[in-house]
Amino acid sequence: MTPAPGLAARAARPPVRGLALAIDVATDSVTAALVGGDRTAPLIRRRLVPPAAGAHPVSNERLVQEVDAVVSELRQAAGVTVAELGGVRGIAVSVDVDPAGAERGDGPGTPALDALTATVRDEIVARPDAEVRTVRRAVAVTIGEHWRGAARGRRAVLGIADSSAERGGSGIDGALMLDGRLLGGPGGQAGRIGHVPVDPYGPGCGCGARGCLTAVASSAAVVAWAAAHGRFPATGTEPDLLGAVGRAAARGDPVALASLRRAGEAIGFAAAAAVTLLDLDVVVVSGPLVDTAGTVLFDAVDDGYRRHAGLGQAAAPRVVPGELGPDAAVIGAAAMVLHPERYG
Ligand SMILES: [Zn+2]
Repeated sequence: MTPAPGLAARAARPPVRGLALAIDVATDSVTAALVGGDRTAPLIRRRLVPPAAGAHPVSNERLVQEVDAVVSELRQAAGVTVAELGGVRGIAVSVDVDPAGAERGDGPGTPALDALTATVRDEIVARPDAEVRTVRRAVAVTIGEHWRGAARGRRAVLGIADSSAERGGSGIDGALMLDGRLLGGPGGQAGRIGHVPVDPYGPGCGCGARGCLTAVASSAAVVAWAAAHGRFPATGTEPDLLGAVGRAAARGDPVALASLRRAGEAIGFAAAAAVTLLDLDVVVVSGPLVDTAGTVLFDAVDDGYRRHAGLGQAAAPRVVPGELGPDAAVIGAAAMVLHPERYG
């Protein structure tokens, strides 16, 4: 990502005043960004967090180290000290887990958010008075795509964010915006399309239900289905396994194509249900499945959507891939700080 013009060279102190510091803790990477409220490009640094031998899932101590390291890289790129970083307008952290569950510390690989955010506030940014906002990653992705991505200017938006189910990741998750504002719901669970049923006889889901979208169409579901129906390996890291399915699909392998098609049609089915129910302007789909097999996946998404969207809703191309890729979460988290009237 190109540094923000003038950000590193700005002479006035503190140089980051007015910017948001956003940190995204995904299942396989940690990203930090300084984002301004205008249209200049954000300054973004990302570190991949490969699985440590014999230590899977990643420990909270390791996550804190990675966040510390990536914020340090960001500071160096921006040319600011820790004290100057304290001038940021606000701090937001997106995590690929349910924040309520993370606070309880339940679930494999779930970062203990209280400890993580306290470390960010007190040590990494050295600003004990600052509020550190935490947000479910799919919410941050959806806000990011609404602020600066594929859903710009739209009033009624569903974001569908696929992620690795390894290390406590959520699989498919989602978030809703109606009338241009985020819809949380009484329990903060609105928009969680990953746990909407798409097959009453489908596989069991980690949420306790059966046939959820995430159990049929997540990256984990795609690689598991391919392994069960072909010569694909059943063990290995999820990104590696998904990459193998994507490459095989590009060669025309029928099992890989069928696995991706099954997932894409299910995503289209779920999108059709959501659009019919809520009269949405657009459904934005992002994550490793889209990045790995975009064309194959989206042909199937389109088919599933058009087959199941009634009331004339299939007339417009309402289901689109995200535009921001892996940067969507930090951009969305920053938007929550910079535009609380819309995204707070
Ligand atoms: Zn579920």
